[in-house]
Amino acid sequence: MVAYFAQHGGEHHALYDAPPTRITSSLDTHLARPMMKKELEATILAACPTLYRHDRPRFRDLRFECGDGWYELVLAISRLLEAEAQRLQQLQQLRPRKRIRVGVVKEELGRLVFGYEGHVTDEAYTAIEALEVRSTLACDLCGRPGERRGGSWLTVRCDAHVEHERRTLL
Ligand SMILES: [Zn+2]
Repeated sequence: MVAYFAQHGGEHHALYDAPPTRITSSLDTHLARPMMKKELEATILAACPTLYRHDRPRFRDLRFECGDGWYELVLAISRLLEAEAQRLQQLQQLRPRKRIRVGVVKEELGRLVFGYEGHVTDEAYTAIEALEVRSTLACDLCGRPGERRGGSWLTVRCDAHVEHERRTLL
């Protein structure tokens, strides 16, 4: 990585010296990371009060970093963790530090990555993993059946959105 920057240092300067208008808005939109709509995110947080209670301040500005098409998957995983969180809470009021924390939730290489820490049952772990895998088959913009596309930039898109993006980029 260091070698890369040393080798291409000059090009980097050239990029930043160039006027910002050289990046077209359509390309910008295409490359922008999808973020879940605030309303949908709020619905998920409200549906899982135990899981997200402590994290609320941290989540004020952190949205689920995936498109609205994965709303159902993020909700389903959150519900599984909510059940785990409630179970833990009943089990050990004594050790309140032992709880489930949700970390980064994002799209990565065309797959939903739901970061969390804390002890969950094997059943919940397996179910969550299956839901993450299912994201590779659902357009992350609309949730319709899709597949992973692209070379170095993998995203899951349905045929309709691939066509839409192709036209937008022309
Ligand atoms: Zn779609």
